[in-house]
Amino acid sequence: MSHPLFDLTGCRALVTGASQGIGFALAQGLAEAGAQVVINGRDPDRARAAAARLPGAEALVFDVTDHAAVRAAVDGFEAAGKPIDILVNNAGIQHRAPLEDFPPEAFERLMQTNIASVFYVGQAVARHMIARGRGRIINIASVQTALARPGIAPYTATKGAVGNLTKGMATDWARHGLTCNAIAPGYFDTPLNAALVADPAFSDWLVKRTPAGRWGRVEELKGACIFLASDAASFVNGHILYVDGGISVSL
Ligand code: NDP
Repeated sequence: MSHPLFDLTGCRALVTGASQGIGFALAQGLAEAGAQVVINGRDPDRARAAAARLPGAEALVFDVTDHAAVRAAVDGFEAAGKPIDILVNNAGIQHRAPLEDFPPEAFERLMQTNIASVFYVGQAVARHMIARGRGRIINIASVQTALARPGIAPYTATKGAVGNLTKGMATDWARHGLTCNAIAPGYFDTPLNAALVADPAFSDWLVKRTPAGRWGRVEELKGACIFLASDAASFVNGHILYVDGGISVSL
C-alpha cells in the first residue's frame, strides 16, 4: 500500500494540454493516485478520447491563450459545483528556427501558449483556490528554464519565465494556502519532439550528453507530479524540480 501522504482521493485535478504526451501521462498519474482528472485541450474529440481512457475523467475544452475563454470555462466549471484542487499548467508548443530568421508570429504564439497561458489559467483557477484557502499549482517548465539550445531561443525565454512566474505565484499565494511549484522535464519522446526523435545525430548527442544515457519516458514524470500535488509537499513552495536524467547539472 502506498503512503497516505501521496493519496489524492477526493481531489479534482485540471491538466491543460492533456490529450497527449506529457500532459496525458501526468493526468494518468494523478488519476492512479486517486484524483478525479479533467483533461483540457483545444480539439474536443482528442480531449474526450483521452478522458475516456481514464476512470472518472472528463474533458474541459478551451484554448489556454484565450483569456476570456479560460475565465468562462474555469468559472463555469467551478459554478457547476466542481472545485479544482490541483492545476497542472502543461500546455505548450515548440518552434525551431535560427534566431536571426525567427518569424515574429511564431515568437508571439510561443509567448501566448507557453507563458501567458500560465498566468491566464493560473489566475482564473487561483481565485477559487484562494477563496477556499487551499490549492496546488504545478507549472511545466523545462531544462530550457536554465539552459539554452540552438534554434529555440524564444522557447527558452518562455520557459525561463515559467520558472520565475512559479516563484512569483508562490510568493503571492502561499499565504492563501496554495503551493505553486514547477516540474522541469529533460528530453522526452513526445509529438512535440518528433523532429528530434527522428534525427539520429540529435539522439546520439543527447544520449552522450545525459548522465542517465537515454531519453526520458513520460511515465517517469508521474511521481514528481503526484508528490507536488499531494500532502507530502505541503511545505514545498516555489521549487523547480528537474526531472532530466541529470542533464542540467553536468557539462
Ligand atoms: P505535445 O505537443 O505532445 O502536447 C501538447 C498538448 O497541448 C496537446 O494535448 C495539445 O492539444 C495541447 N495544446 C497545445 N496548444 C494548446 C492551447 N493553445 N490550448 C490548449 N491546449 C493546447 O507536447 P509535450 O507533451 O511534449 O509537452 C507538454 C509540455 O511539456 C509543454 O509545456 C512542453 O514545453 C513541456 N516540455 C516538454 C518536453 C519534452 O521533452 N517533450 C521537455 C520539457 C518540457 P490540442 O492540440 O488539442 O490543443
